[in-house]
Amino acid sequence: MTHQPGFLPLSGKEREKIGIRQFDIILVTGDAYIDHPSFGTALIGRVLWNAGFTVGIIAQPDWKTTADFTELGKPRLFFGISSGNVDSMVNNFTPNLKRRSDDVFSPAGVPKRPDRATIVYTNRVHELFPETPIVLGGIEASLRRFAHYDYWQDRVRQAILADAPADLLVFGMGEKQVVEIARRLAYGETVASLRDIRGTAFRMEIVEWRSKRPEGIIELPGFTEVAENKISYARAFAMHYLEQDPFRGKTVAQPHPKTVVFQNPPALPLSTKELDRIFDLPFSRRAHPSYTQKVPALEPVQFSITSHRGCFGACSFCALTHHQGRIIQSRSSASIIREATQMTTMPEFKGIVQDVGGPTANMYCISCELWEKHGACRDKHCSPSCKNLDTSHRHQIELLKRLRKIPGVKKVFISSGVRYDLALVDDSGYLEMISDHHISGHLKVAPEHVIKNVTDIMNKPDGEVFNQFCGRFETLQKGKKKRQYLLPYFMSGHPGCSINDMVELAVFIRDNQLYTEQVQDFTPTSMSVSTCMYYTGLNPFTLEPVHVPRGNEKKIQRALMQYRDPGNRRLVIEGLNAAGRTDLIGNGRQCLVPAIGRESSRYGLKHSRNKR
Ligand code: SF4
Repeated sequence: MTHQPGFLPLSGKEREKIGIRQFDIILVTGDAYIDHPSFGTALIGRVLWNAGFTVGIIAQPDWKTTADFTELGKPRLFFGISSGNVDSMVNNFTPNLKRRSDDVFSPAGVPKRPDRATIVYTNRVHELFPETPIVLGGIEASLRRFAHYDYWQDRVRQAILADAPADLLVFGMGEKQVVEIARRLAYGETVASLRDIRGTAFRMEIVEWRSKRPEGIIELPGFTEVAENKISYARAFAMHYLEQDPFRGKTVAQPHPKTVVFQNPPALPLSTKELDRIFDLPFSRRAHPSYTQKVPALEPVQFSITSHRGCFGACSFCALTHHQGRIIQSRSSASIIREATQMTTMPEFKGIVQDVGGPTANMYCISCELWEKHGACRDKHCSPSCKNLDTSHRHQIELLKRLRKIPGVKKVFISSGVRYDLALVDDSGYLEMISDHHISGHLKVAPEHVIKNVTDIMNKPDGEVFNQFCGRFETLQKGKKKRQYLLPYFMSGHPGCSINDMVELAVFIRDNQLYTEQVQDFTPTSMSVSTCMYYTGLNPFTLEPVHVPRGNEKKIQRALMQYRDPGNRRLVIEGLNAAGRTDLIGNGRQCLVPAIGRESSRYGLKHSRNKR
């Protein structure tokens, strides 16, 4: 193993200081370099270093000139390019398509990332180093690996490998793939020959495709067809969605006008040992010392711990199934304890572990006996009602108990969202324990909606389950000196949701006196099931039509969720009129908004929060 530096080098001077003439690999990223396992570039850089390769980082290069791209010289093996931790279009624009004025992944929050950063950086690198292999990675590349609907241009775009002059694309979390790519290139294989690595996508020339079409692959409707025909788009989506299981997924190909894009089956899940090795790497948990101003994205995660990867919830609006997958991969408790213990040695650590979790807080060590050999079921969603799923939270309880006992740790919080239907079926005392020790005042939960036809389309538990959870949470409050509150996340404007459904949700919020400052208006990000519905108006798995709220209806839906805000009054009234619920307009106790001209008395009423 090559000795890991305190920080991976960002400049030629740092490279010289540690005695390296030429890096094996150079990673280019749209984020500032934060040496923390929550940041993809640091993670991949440390893993490659651990595998014996030297790595330099070009962070947030000025893409209008060449100097930043040539600063570290030419790498021996390849350039790895990513937009950063988030898709650059999501990062640069609000859901209403307004350009954001800040970027939390940048020092002092000053935006430095170009739109479509992966393509922009790749073009630059390819111009300057045309002979050097380029490997794409990160969320932006991963979730644009097939022809996809792009919300920002309101059209179907080609797979990113058809748009950017790169050789390979790594999708998913990427550690295994990048190490294999580096090793094989180091052994003298050409990048063009690397066509069999799980968790990667590559291109094939049209001539080759025509002459030796491989057998046993899933061929999707091509780009031209899916760009013109929404039924074909929906069919293509369902086809690649169903191949995203590492054990049973097949290679998928999608022809484009000038190339054919192939996706190999996803990488096999990491074992506990493999995950532990990654999180045991010497991350400093700090931003690179060359930054003179704070990078805002660090503070919320600096002392948080990733306990697992994957989420079997498969919510329709989340593309995690296409990225981390449904199979839960958990670290050992010993590795997590080591990480927390190491944090206690940092002068910045004030005794607070900010979070222990993953995409969903309480899926740590939850498992299904089928996952290891057969993968997750193709034709059904994993849920707590499945008899094969071991839903006991005992491992989480043990882990949290041990974390609390570490000298120097005063508090261990759970800030990731808790999957409440899963917590409800646990019989080992998880909810009682987190309520006693691990909630700082609010527990985040994400029912997203409560009306069954909407929750079904979102693939979320229905309102009845949320009600049960609210009741259970309420009983936990008895005898507590300091009251805790549920912080529910609801979503408006989701495909399948009508104004009537939103009125029902507003009534539910009223009846339960829930706090709804945190609202989400559905944003069609790349490669989620919901985005496919938004674009096509079809459920991709059944091809049945789905209602898609757009324009003014979308605004009304959002306003209904925040009906208490006086600024939303006109839209709320419009929505209530459209739903035929004029009984909810006025000054009665049941009303959501005052009638026009009577607003001051109504809005003067104080709404209590989270009474239950
Ligand atoms: S058996 Fe149940 S928990 Fe296991 S993969 Fe299938 S649906 Fe998921």
